Amino acid sequence: MTKAEDIPEWVGGQEFYHKYEPKEIVGRGVSSVVRRCVDKRTKQEYAVKIIDITASDKMTPQETEEIREATVKEIDILRKVSGQKNIIQLKDCFESSAFFFLVFDLMKRGELFDYLTEKVTLSEKETRKIMRALLEVVQFLHAHSIVHRDLKPENILLDDNMNIKLTDFGFSVQLEPGQRLKEVCGTPGYLAPEIIECSMDPCHAGYGSAADLWSSGVIMYTLLAGSPPFWHRKQMLMLRMILAGKYDFSSPEWDDRSDTVKDLISRLLVVDPQRRYTAAEALNHAFFQQYEVAEVRHFSPYRKFKVICLTVLATMRIYCSYRRAKPVTKEVIRSDPYAIKPLRKMIDACAFKIYGHWVKKGQTQNRAALFENTPKFILLSIAAEENDMSLRTL
Ligand code: ADP
Ligand code: MG
Repeated sequence: MTKAEDIPEWVGGQEFYHKYEPKEIVGRGVSSVVRRCVDKRTKQEYAVKIIDITASDKMTPQETEEIREATVKEIDILRKVSGQKNIIQLKDCFESSAFFFLVFDLMKRGELFDYLTEKVTLSEKETRKIMRALLEVVQFLHAHSIVHRDLKPENILLDDNMNIKLTDFGFSVQLEPGQRLKEVCGTPGYLAPEIIECSMDPCHAGYGSAADLWSSGVIMYTLLAGSPPFWHRKQMLMLRMILAGKYDFSSPEWDDRSDTVKDLISRLLVVDPQRRYTAAEALNHAFFQQYEVAEVRHFSPYRKFKVICLTVLATMRIYCSYRRAKPVTKEVIRSDPYAIKPLRKMIDACAFKIYGHWVKKGQTQNRAALFENTPKFILLSIAAEENDMSLRTL
């Protein structure tokens, strides 16, 4: 199956335990558990994705065989994409009759999803860095005819320097020339409209790599707004919103965002995959041409003086507008806590902790209301949300 010089190599399951010591769980997927592990010889830390391929009460032998075949494909693709700087590196591979062990570099900072939960929203600058790397990965994958099909913040990990590493190639597929896909796979909120259409129309012509650009648009929107563009308690209604490409920039988080960033999102979230931006087009967009400081600037004494004067004037202006600003009183906090930015961020982070996913603020919903002193309302909301939780992953 593999050439001798290929890394990783195939060896039995007990070899894994001989070489590595598994430690605590760092993540879970649909059919896998990911643990930190330590190389016994070098003491180097890694992450091992353990995939169960034993037939049990939960799975028929046919289902376990499907998982085995899917894992072999995942490993094959991981090897093909090995070396791209923003893709997780597969170090070792082991297979026993019951488990697969896939050893990766350990990303101690975890998922982009958790980072976003902590920060609530990211700045345009930070979004630019993440999206540039993500789109470069997508461009690289598409150049190799590989479609990822499950781009989302949970599958984007962060290394020690906050660089992204794309992971989870479980749904990835390498297309033959002219091949179109029909399978419905991915995560509901990130599904491209053409994938949903395939599930409804058996005669659909199929979809291709453009589906990854749609998911990239959803990620970009979510990073900046702190909530996804398409969200509804009822999954069916959410899918309808996706099919119609119905989203907006109306939440307060968008007030301070540039038109350039909104323009790029609106070119990715295009229902027609033919008209949607490709990764190369997105990378050429004006959003990525900003804030590129190529050289260190040297100022003349005159320019230094001018900058000092401008700084003093700007400081005075800020001070004056600060004096004019409405004071934050108890009444303001009580009547509209959501209008105060630091409180809004805190409310959103708490709402996330309660629900485990973003709660979109709409006409019928008010995230701030979750914290108003009406326990009955909170309990009802939690019960309704819990019913919805099972719909997160297809
Ligand atoms: P699945 O295909 O079952 O979704 P993933 O490959 O996405 O599995 O891994 C599940 C979770 O495990 C990830 O979302 C992440 O939280 C964690 N994880 C995966 N790989 C690593 C890694 N190399 N370092 C740290 N955490 C990881
Ligand atoms: Mg995953």
